[in-house]
Amino acid sequence: MRKLQKENRYALSRTDVDLIIEHAHQLITAKGFTQRPAKGPEMEELGILQDGAVAIHNGRIVAVSKTDEILSTCEARERIDATGKIVTPGLIDAHTHFVFAGSRESELELKIKGASYLEILQKGGGILRTVRDTRSASKEELLQTCRQRVESLLVHGTTTIEAKSGYGLSLQDEIKSLEVINSLNHEGPLTLIPTFLGAHAIPTEFDGRVGEYIDLIIADWLPKISERHLARFSDVFCEKGVFEIDDSRRLLLAGKRLGLMPRIHADELYPLGGAELAAEVEAVSADHLLFASDLGIERMKQAGVIATLLPAAPLTLMLDRYADARKFIAHGVPVALGSDLSPSCWIENEQLVIGLACYKLKMTPAEAIMAVTINAAHSIQEASEIGSLEIGKKADITIFNVKDYRFLGYRLGMNMAETVIKNGKVAVDDGHLA
Ligand code: ZN
Repeated sequence: MRKLQKENRYALSRTDVDLIIEHAHQLITAKGFTQRPAKGPEMEELGILQDGAVAIHNGRIVAVSKTDEILSTCEARERIDATGKIVTPGLIDAHTHFVFAGSRESELELKIKGASYLEILQKGGGILRTVRDTRSASKEELLQTCRQRVESLLVHGTTTIEAKSGYGLSLQDEIKSLEVINSLNHEGPLTLIPTFLGAHAIPTEFDGRVGEYIDLIIADWLPKISERHLARFSDVFCEKGVFEIDDSRRLLLAGKRLGLMPRIHADELYPLGGAELAAEVEAVSADHLLFASDLGIERMKQAGVIATLLPAAPLTLMLDRYADARKFIAHGVPVALGSDLSPSCWIENEQLVIGLACYKLKMTPAEAIMAVTINAAHSIQEASEIGSLEIGKKADITIFNVKDYRFLGYRLGMNMAETVIKNGKVAVDDGHLA
């Protein structure tokens, strides 16, 4: 390094930088949508630079241009050759149920035999089983389990996730889950944005007393979680027979008054009016939306609510219905994507989510890539920092060993991520943790 610095004295016009990624066959910048998400036809504006390069210094992007231009103006301590590869903003997963203990592989067979999600739940399976497992795990055990999950996400090219609590369903266990998320975020390198989802299911001790459970969350849990800054968002599983519109509304508004921005599981299994509620409470994001009404979609557009669609969810629930992504895009509602990573939808490879968005939601590969980068950043209120390759943003970057961005939708189930840069440092090298 000393030798390099000495040589630089003779290259007075060039700026010293930490790292240059150069000669990308396609550098996907997703630029121009930091102030507001891409919508309508903008969702295909990937901002591709052929033979592109990115210069990184102190963890931030300091230049984005053609390779010859970058190399004539910057001198790097380290260079990565991306010849024949594509370079994208680090993938962002805008909806995960990241903190859980145990697993539910036996429910796959029940689902195959025709049991529905709500039937499994009513028999004490589903979420309630994971709640039992998560409650009995210590914080240290949960941390260890989740650390492995962090590594897997990074290796697959994801650099930031939204992470929900929601398998504790008691104050103590919800706080434990949020603390795990915050600890892992502090540890790095993956960024985790915490969401409080105490209203994920009705805990068995509140059977038949949904209103009282919501009262308790509003009166006691939300103030404590807000006071300790444990979550950025407050979320609710707004669904027929679980938390219906009135309970969801008062919960989200109570959170909002305490500074927890609303997001909502809306109209996943039944047309309940979740999309309309999302607009009414000015939620940052409404998620799932398989049964969103036309009125709900129009109101979401007017209120600026992002539609975060989760194509792996109906797949793993064995539903034939998927969210109508084309309708949201045609109406000018910005679309983001998430994995819905959870014990019932265990998917750690966001590249597969892009593929499912193409094949099941009829999104184009370009739209799907915008939906897991800049629009996903908006969905978690991080667009000023991440989601595109633009000067000043955090250097969160994934290099895929494919020659064209369309491979991300086209080649299914593979891990095409080769190198992952997080905050300007190599986190994954040649497919392995650095
Ligand atoms: Zn969810």
